[in-house]
Amino acid sequence: MTQPILTINTGAACANWRALDVLSGTAETAAAVKANGYGCGAVEISRALEAAGCRTFFVATVEEGVSLRTALRDPVIYILNGVADREDAAACLASGLRPCLNHPGQIETWQGQTGHTACALQLDSGMSRLGLQPSELEKVPGGIDVRLVMSHLACADEPGHEANAFQYENFVCYADVLKDRVPEALRSLAATGGTLLGQAYHFDLVRCGVGLYGGAPYMQARPVVSLETPILQIRDIPAGQGVGYGWSWTAKRPSRIGILPLGYADGMHRALSNNATLYICGKPLPLIGRVSMDLITVDLTEHPQAQVGHMVEILGPNQSVDDLATAAGTIGYEILTSLGQRYTKRYTQD
Ligand SMILES: *Cc1c(COP(=O)(O)O)cnc(C)c1O
Repeated sequence: MTQPILTINTGAACANWRALDVLSGTAETAAAVKANGYGCGAVEISRALEAAGCRTFFVATVEEGVSLRTALRDPVIYILNGVADREDAAACLASGLRPCLNHPGQIETWQGQTGHTACALQLDSGMSRLGLQPSELEKVPGGIDVRLVMSHLACADEPGHEANAFQYENFVCYADVLKDRVPEALRSLAATGGTLLGQAYHFDLVRCGVGLYGGAPYMQARPVVSLETPILQIRDIPAGQGVGYGWSWTAKRPSRIGILPLGYADGMHRALSNNATLYICGKPLPLIGRVSMDLITVDLTEHPQAQVGHMVEILGPNQSVDDLATAAGTIGYEILTSLGQRYTKRYTQD
């Protein structure tokens, strides 16, 4: 079969979780597994993390939570986007999911759900995204079972950024306003970046995502994902001949062109056109021409020994997720979450 192979090392993800768990000290280390576990497979990653000792998981949507619930033994699952309507609230209740209530309307929806159970409150400490505003804190009603009071940092990947201390101060102050009404609640401010900012940011629970999957800002992470593809076809072209859509690359010399079976529909961002290096037998291999939907082209002129079926490394020992992200003008998160559905997925535990 001529298909790219995406290898996901759940053992490395567990090692990253353990290392972040050591860093976070006495705080609990929860895992963010939204967007299908950052493209790595939410079920496979979560099962491995659960076996390693992780007890609490965060996903974005109720649908993600429902499918994760049946895959794990006895997890705590928080829904970051909360409950938009009664249908969401009923689904959370039926599956034992804990919604993060982000504004007064969501609190009302949850409160209106007969038999409502544990939930989280999200506060906006300065990111101006989800969460209750300071003026709304006084109106949080009693009688809801809040287990977690959380907020999210806007600039945690820049340790020196003034927003970090600003949001920290706000979070402490806002959580204090709520303290008497939600005495059982744990406090949580940090994702991966916040966990790396140091102990002050850890509170009771940290919510690590990208660091588990081997991405910046957790530079000590073990890589989790590798991607390689067989060469689908090789052709020789004369000097002066154009390659691919728009003829955006033209051979300056007689050239040997390799065609690889993955494209922007598989997460090879189109911004990588004429602008990425892949590797064959550990040696650099320039991506040339436009990235198309299902194919990319490489210049094999310097690799006369390469044959159809030989493997080319896209992500692996020579190229990290963040290296490829830099070439594409994006971040590792976007490379991971756009990894394609068409790959043959292999899970290892090395
Ligand atoms: C995605 C997300 C996380 C995890 O973030 P990373 O930067 O991937 O560690 C934590 N908290 C919230 C609210 C999130 O949306």
